[in-house]
Amino acid sequence: MPIDSSALVKMFNGIAEALEADKERLCALDGVIGDADHGIAMALGFAAARDALASLDVAATSPTQIFNTAAKSFLNAVGASSGPLYATAMMRAGAAMKEKSTLAAADIAGMIEAMARGIQDRGKAEIGEKTMVDAWAPAAAAAAEAKAAGKDATAILSAALSAARDGAEATKSMIAGKGRSSRLGERALGHIDPGAASAVTILEAMAKALTS
Ligand code: ADP
Ligand code: MG
Repeated sequence: MPIDSSALVKMFNGIAEALEADKERLCALDGVIGDADHGIAMALGFAAARDALASLDVAATSPTQIFNTAAKSFLNAVGASSGPLYATAMMRAGAAMKEKSTLAAADIAGMIEAMARGIQDRGKAEIGEKTMVDAWAPAAAAAAEAKAAGKDATAILSAALSAARDGAEATKSMIAGKGRSSRLGERALGHIDPGAASAVTILEAMAKALTS
């Protein structure tokens, strides 16, 4: 089943709901190695995106415009470092689906790859620096691999999610090279990165919304 603008609005609603539900856990994770606001920032940002999308005429809105609207409202709502990172991710996802009204499996992989690339271009973090990149980059690689193998959107999303989970878990044994927690040095060891944790929540909500 092809994925259209209305499916993407549903996806953003699902992400907003999932982050609202996960807000306290994400703040607690950020409380250990950061400033305890990550859950608030993410829930606020995606609630703003959801509200902005609710005022659109979806039938007259392209997938690119959906992502651009979400990006702008997210950036305006979020003052934390996740604001520009996810705004860039969403702008890139929008650009990757330019001229399309429905998304096929390959476009879903392209969306995840574009988001990961945007986050890396914007924040300049490499894999292993204990950031959201440690979830997004492996998710993008898994999505690309599933796409190359001709898998459907459900399989692509599930491969991306599983790679993101492993990547987020791996941040426990990392010292941060970017962001607030980089000041902690070895004291960050043993703790999962909040940005990597929320990336998993986002991909989970994406998979749920786009495959049901
Ligand atoms: P802040 O650190 O400004 O309070 P948040 O709490 O919303 O922002 O987000 C913290 C998360 O942002 C970190 O857990 C990490 O995953 C991510 N992050 C920080 N800096 C970068 C960066 N340069 N590149 C990618 N992700 C980053
Ligand atoms: Mg924070």
